[in-house]
Amino acid sequence: MENKKELRNWLDAFGLDHPLVIAGPCSAETEDQVLNIAHQLKDSDATVLRAGIWKPRTRPGNFEGVGALGLKWLQRAKEETGMLTTTEVANANHVDLALKHDIDILWIGARTTVSPFIVQEIADALKGTDKTVLIKNPVNPDLALWLGAVERFYTADVKNLGVIHRGFSTYEKTRYRNNPEWQIPIDLQQRFPDLPLILDPSHIAGRRDIIFDLCQTALDLNYDGFMVETHHTPDEAWSDAAQQITPDALKQMTVDLRIRKEEGQEAEFRNKINTLRSKIDIIDHQIIEHLGKRMRVADDIGHLKKENNVAILQTKRWNEILGKMILMGEEQHLSEEFILKVFKGIHQESINHQKKVINN
Ligand code: PEP
Ligand code: MN
Repeated sequence: MENKKELRNWLDAFGLDHPLVIAGPCSAETEDQVLNIAHQLKDSDATVLRAGIWKPRTRPGNFEGVGALGLKWLQRAKEETGMLTTTEVANANHVDLALKHDIDILWIGARTTVSPFIVQEIADALKGTDKTVLIKNPVNPDLALWLGAVERFYTADVKNLGVIHRGFSTYEKTRYRNNPEWQIPIDLQQRFPDLPLILDPSHIAGRRDIIFDLCQTALDLNYDGFMVETHHTPDEAWSDAAQQITPDALKQMTVDLRIRKEEGQEAEFRNKINTLRSKIDIIDHQIIEHLGKRMRVADDIGHLKKENNVAILQTKRWNEILGKMILMGEEQHLSEEFILKVFKGIHQESINHQKKVINN
């Protein structure tokens, strides 16, 4: 697959003067719930109503979706509000049922994108369709696997395509439910600048309070839109309660976000510099997180040294680290002077941490 303008025909056809917004509950729960949310979203920026019908749960025993019955509710919501509809499909049977119920956009979930067999089965079931298919990133941070899924659809003559960035799972607990790893969608965007890129801040965040910031970062990185889990009573949602927001909160958010869509040379410069600055901000965050992680390991070493009555400063070990870092730095075009400064600072902070551990 190569980059092609046609990849974004479906999105251009909407003729929006703002980013695409897909909103709606994590799961369709009842007919009233779906209709209530759809009517509240009707006069928002949301073009598409989302609702999970079949829910892939990591552990059994959680709500697994209402099943095909919910497709009728989506159909009714579409009739009553004029919104388009989207749901997740995870096998050929889901595809068949979704098509029979006139679902407009199908999305491939993160747990499906990891499996080339299932992706191929779904692509075959959709061969030649003019429906739009949005492919979520796989749960693991693997750009090739994500692109591979896009290619399977493209090869099956599905030309209305887009990708959804929903973050990547990590074993360690972080600030996010799923780590954004922004570098991955940024790389993807560089290779396929015309493939619509949509952010799912809800599954990245896992909580409502950072959804706005995630959306702003995505806008600064020129994403094409968002898919935001929206529920009329989020705390009572049957799945993903902590991360859903109300339709009113969604409307306010679309007002508050800084959208850069100006034209002209000066605007182009500003767009470019803002995009580059967003990239720098993301990397700076990662640096701080890694420094924090390093200091926590230094604390552990402090405890061990205390228990074993070992001195904090181990000159031989320190010189070894410095030597290695200078060599690695060279490979990255970082001067020896710079590496020495940075690592002296890091080393001093580690010593301070260990002093604290040993003196307490
Ligand atoms: C969802 O969108 O509700 C969902 C299950 O997402 P993901 O596949 O990203 O986990
Ligand atoms: Mn969800």
